[in-house]
Amino acid sequence: MADTTFPKSVLQLHYSATCIDLHCDSLLAHVEGRRDLRHRSDSGHLDFPRMRTGGIDGQVFAIWVDPDRKRPEGHAAFVLDTLERAEGLWQAAAADVTVCRSPAEFRQANASGRIAAILGIEGGHALEGDLDNLDRFFGLGVRVLTITWCNSNELADSNADSSRPHQGLSALGRRAVRRMNELGIVIDVSHCSDRAFFDIIGTSARPVVASHSGLRCRRDFHRNLTDDQVRALAANQGLLGMVFLPHFLREDEAEASVDDVVTGIDHVCQLVGPDHVGLGSDFDGFDGKLTGLEDAAMLPAVSAGLAARGYPEADIRRILGENFLRVWEKVCADVGTAV
Ligand SMILES: [Zn+2]
Repeated sequence: MADTTFPKSVLQLHYSATCIDLHCDSLLAHVEGRRDLRHRSDSGHLDFPRMRTGGIDGQVFAIWVDPDRKRPEGHAAFVLDTLERAEGLWQAAAADVTVCRSPAEFRQANASGRIAAILGIEGGHALEGDLDNLDRFFGLGVRVLTITWCNSNELADSNADSSRPHQGLSALGRRAVRRMNELGIVIDVSHCSDRAFFDIIGTSARPVVASHSGLRCRRDFHRNLTDDQVRALAANQGLLGMVFLPHFLREDEAEASVDDVVTGIDHVCQLVGPDHVGLGSDFDGFDGKLTGLEDAAMLPAVSAGLAARGYPEADIRRILGENFLRVWEKVCADVGTAV
């Protein structure tokens, strides 16, 4: 158990801090019947009981839209269906978890002892090229959109697609970014090509996040961000959610551990200070376990690692969750007015 292996002072800090994870794929595991998130499981990475053990107060639950789904309905219909099917979970777990549509709702949920769930979509192909779907999804509570997944789509190029059909962000993608600014949807640039990343930052009037990415200086891999991208995120007042996925953390993934997550966070702090990095586990988005951070219950290991490196309590609190709340506040500020 986490609470027997970490110093008491670290646990006091960790459990009193607001901890927010910017990306997991666990909701689909529930909706597709592979696991019930209300019950502790040994499989996968995350469920509500393990979130409690790990001190996680807020979680972005991504609806990943498989671009290759062999189903008759479209991508947007898949999102709508998933949102509807998830409704049963939120109702059944209402005493424990609440879907939050704003930072104010987030704080209310936490104040009443409940975990805040934030709904996200991974893959802008979910819009099917129709920006009205942004308004539709927003109306149903979606607050984060990952612009691309491993496929390029109508909005932008993916960093996994070397054909680069748009050479960055498309004209429709620019309009989508502006509409997300107007609505107050958090723009997520993880998975975008480098050019699309910079195009989005150049277009967005609000901070953006890279919800689950690593660092290219640590592991030379297209899904990871260069130091220039980290500096651009900082200039945008945005945030990198440090990923826990072993393959992104070091060349020899068998050697990867929680120490690599802490080292990555430390690198961002050295580069741009402690205001532009947070947590982006990608739990249940990969197989296997990261040593020392095997599942959501082990999250105090990150606080322990930062404390061991001499990070002051205020910085650790920022990294654990306050940075994301600040970004979300800025994304929501004065929505409905011209930006
Ligand atoms: Zn992803």
